[in-house]
Amino acid sequence: MPGSSRGALRAALLYLLASLVWLVPVGQILSSLFDDSAQALRWQLINGYAWVLATAVLIFLARARLLRCFGLGDQGRIERERLRMAAAVFDSTLEGVLVTNRLGNIVHVNRAFMDITGYHEDEVLGHNPSKFKSGRHDVAFYRQIFHTLDHEGRWSGEIWNRRKSGEIYPQWQTIRAIHNDAGHVSHYVAVFSDISALKRSERERAHLIQHDPLTELPNRLLFHDRAEQALAAAQANKRGCALLLLDLDHFQSINDSLGHAVGDQLIKAVVTRLQSLMKSGMTLARMGGDEFAVLLEDTPQVADAATLAQAIIDTLKQPFLVDGHTLFISASIGISVFPSDAIGAEQLLRNADSALFKAKGNGRGGYALYTEELTAHAQQRVEMTAELRRALAQEELRVYYQPVHDLASRELVGVEALVRWMHPERGLVPPGDFIPVAERSGLIAEIDAWVMTRACQQMCAWQAEGHQLDFIAVNVSSRLFGHQDLYRQVARILADTGLNPARLELEVTESAVMEDPESALEQMHRLRELGLRLSIDDFGTGYSSLLRLKRLPVQKLKIDQGFVAGLPLDEDDAAIVRVIIALARSMGMQVHAEGIEQPEQAQFLMSHQCELGQGYWFGRPMPAAELTWPQPR
Ligand code: C2E
Ligand code: MG
Ligand code: MG
Repeated sequence: MPGSSRGALRAALLYLLASLVWLVPVGQILSSLFDDSAQALRWQLINGYAWVLATAVLIFLARARLLRCFGLGDQGRIERERLRMAAAVFDSTLEGVLVTNRLGNIVHVNRAFMDITGYHEDEVLGHNPSKFKSGRHDVAFYRQIFHTLDHEGRWSGEIWNRRKSGEIYPQWQTIRAIHNDAGHVSHYVAVFSDISALKRSERERAHLIQHDPLTELPNRLLFHDRAEQALAAAQANKRGCALLLLDLDHFQSINDSLGHAVGDQLIKAVVTRLQSLMKSGMTLARMGGDEFAVLLEDTPQVADAATLAQAIIDTLKQPFLVDGHTLFISASIGISVFPSDAIGAEQLLRNADSALFKAKGNGRGGYALYTEELTAHAQQRVEMTAELRRALAQEELRVYYQPVHDLASRELVGVEALVRWMHPERGLVPPGDFIPVAERSGLIAEIDAWVMTRACQQMCAWQAEGHQLDFIAVNVSSRLFGHQDLYRQVARILADTGLNPARLELEVTESAVMEDPESALEQMHRLRELGLRLSIDDFGTGYSSLLRLKRLPVQKLKIDQGFVAGLPLDEDDAAIVRVIIALARSMGMQVHAEGIEQPEQAQFLMSHQCELGQGYWFGRPMPAAELTWPQPR
């Protein structure tokens, strides 16, 4: 038998014995009560009490020994040990622990509680936890907690409390009711963790998903959500909404020429300006690269949207100073309004996009509205494409030639070939009315090839007739300029017509070159290999990087007629023209001014060393047969 079991048996026997022995004096005392001898009574009582006392001590010792043997002894010590262990656990846990009594007074807090809340134990013991209320929850919230505790004995959930510093923060809290032996609540124990970091990272993740990292603006996703909410509210309140879709013109050329870091800074600077125009009820978002959107809520008037669009265009017109560069940028804006143009966010966006397309087609730097009229416009475009196709097949197109003169000698030195459409009903249609449609439908490739063929044939014919011109200029659409086909097409036309390539000049617009300067450079070098000349048309209207311009194998700059119109009185125009001339000359290029309508303009240009001039003053574009030839040289 193991020692402990033997001890237990001994203790049990002792306990039994002591209990039996204890009964003897008790019996004696009881029997003495019925005895009438006072002497005997006293003696027996003393004797009995002594026995009772001795055996009681014996019983107590035996019981204690017995309990110890069964591991049940010394309840107080075990209880204290258990509490010490619990306190150690409480103190080392990262979760805050708070114990209140039944009345809700705090009786214990752990170290983590102090770390999280900023309160020291002494400041909270005896207080009610309502001390930590954040004010974020209403009475019903707390009532619900106690109701759950009463019925289920336990509550878990998120709760916002206030730290000693005053900061409010979210906790994940579990509260348990502790019951005593009688089954009544004696204490409440709350265990909580600070989930503010978790919430923050959750918020940050949500923010990242819905915002553009560069500008911190809402992205397409969030904008779409907001638009949907706004439309629902507008529908309920019978109000209007407007959506502006904004695209920066030729932004890519800035990225390409100055690098993405400068491009990014410019985007940020643009956003700062846009934000300065935003008022309450407006949401600005970055939809992608250089595309932004503005949602105007509660806008019953279309005019309000148009006014904002104009303000945006105006503010972006001011130069930007980025990283030491002075940058000019313009924006095109498409507007669609709820409910007249669309009733859903998706459709509103699509229609604003169509309007933006229209704005760009109208010449960049403007805004356009999506209206029924625009739909009609789109239909017209479809019809016109079909008509144009027919016009090409039935040879309704014409090439007109506009004379180009040497400004100093006044001699006719060249012509520019300009296409016209001899419409059977509408008469002579200018290229501005159909070239954009041709560009969008892809028909432009055929038109330009046809014009170039006609122009080269005409040049050969004039040469055969003895009319000597230095060059014939042909416009090349920016849509074709990026295409590898262009080189092959020009080579074929030159071969077919037999024109000396040195007599052919191709005009490319500044924006076409700057849209993709690297491929433009490659294209230009290949074209130059054919032996022809290249000029940049409408110079001064696009954004040109001087560095890139210098590298281009171009022989001529054509000053845009917009600058010539103000000559000689408009000081800005005069200054720009002087700069362009100086620039061209410094790079060894010829300068050619277009749109000369008055002799003073020709005079100004000539006196500033502009070599060539073209305009109504010299002659309008006209059929080949109407050109006036000088006496043979
Ligand atoms: P552009 O190449 O800059 O042509 C000059 C335009 O200015 C021509 O308009 C011409 O008629 C006009 N113009 C000439 N002198 C004056 C003047 O003194 N005052 C004013 N106010 N205007 C003058 P047009 O013929 O209507 O051509 C417009 C544009 O259409 C051209 O601009 C060119 O970009 C494009 N274009 C014309 N023909 C063709 C073509 O065959 N192919 C392509 N891709 N584009 C063409
Ligand atoms: Mg031209
Ligand atoms: Mg031009």
